[in-house]
Amino acid sequence: MKPAPFTYHRPETAAEAVGLLADLGDGAKLLAGGQSLVPMLNLRLAVFDDLVDVSRIDELSGIERREGHLWIGAGTTEAAVERSAEVAAAVPLLARATPLIGHRQIRNRGTIGGSLAHADPAAEYPAVVLALDAELEAVSPRGARTIAAADFFTGFWSTALDEDELLTGIRLPVRGGAATRCGFGVREIARRHGDFAIAGAAVALEVDGDDRVVRAAIGLFGLGSVPLRASAAEAAATGRALAEIDADDVGRVAVADLSDVPSDLHGSAAYRTKVGAVMVARAWADAAAEATVGATAGATNG
Ligand SMILES: Cc1cc2nc3c(=O)[nH]c(=O)nc-3n(C[C@H](O)[C@H](O)[C@H](O)COP(=O)(O)OP(=O)(O)OC[C@H]3O[C@@H](n4cnc5c(N)ncnc54)[C@H](O)[C@@H]3O)c2cc1C
Repeated sequence: MKPAPFTYHRPETAAEAVGLLADLGDGAKLLAGGQSLVPMLNLRLAVFDDLVDVSRIDELSGIERREGHLWIGAGTTEAAVERSAEVAAAVPLLARATPLIGHRQIRNRGTIGGSLAHADPAAEYPAVVLALDAELEAVSPRGARTIAAADFFTGFWSTALDEDELLTGIRLPVRGGAATRCGFGVREIARRHGDFAIAGAAVALEVDGDDRVVRAAIGLFGLGSVPLRASAAEAAATGRALAEIDADDVGRVAVADLSDVPSDLHGSAAYRTKVGAVMVARAWADAAAEATVGATAGATNG
């Protein structure tokens, strides 16, 4: 399959990329790793007159510890995220979710910004940034702005980004401290290794010195037309001692009010809901074990 003809642009800076988007208008599209966009172009599910390749803009790439958060450039490849000791120490949930994305060849090219901007509801990163309360930085001809992950995913494959807006970086809060311990878990079920998840869950937990939950965040993927937070299950767990919480109950509550679970040849809505509850329960159990057993204050979160 071949894409329809397009003009290829390769800006050197973010400002140049934004300028090109503004000049070229609706027929232009950003290209990062191409792992989602190129198959769509090849199948002619998408047709654009101009592609603006941002994959070689240095300022969009990098991983840096900054005041209270870890900054990851939108153009940073998934493979670089996977290899980063800084990511593993500061935001373990992101590190653990990354190897679940496709295959190594895809992660070598695919970028964190591309994955978030593509906003596939079955993708791992959208659910992870939701669970971590990340903030997304974007720039357009109107200037720079920051979008909370909770406001970013607006519909199936759609985000709060304007057509002429470039995602530049992701700010991930570094959690845990002297008084709390963190635990993280991510689980998914897929037909084959490397396939998109049929259903999955990412859990970030923070407990106090008495093992009482002070923060519970559960991101769901593959279980709706957008990635979701399981707010009712989070609220039910918050303030309770970890030992009193049954992981299976967390799973049941997490899926109880889902209203648009997909149904397709990979699985019916009922099947997805059922295995979704199991994925939540397992991810919760992993996170709870990490937050409790043998953990010292703050150690799980650098
Ligand atoms: C066989 C296969 C299996 C896969 N399996 C998985 C999987 O299991 N889990 C998963 O999460 N993903 C999976 N993917 C997708 C992969 O993670 C992609 O890398 C990712 O979705 C898109 O990243 P990209 O950098 O390649 O973006 P591109 O494909 O280049 O772009 C994707 C979209 O994002 C926009 N975009 C890119 N960068 C920016 C930016 N900086 N600012 C604004 N918009 C931008 C583009 O315009 C386009 O609309 C798979 C892909 C393939 C081909």
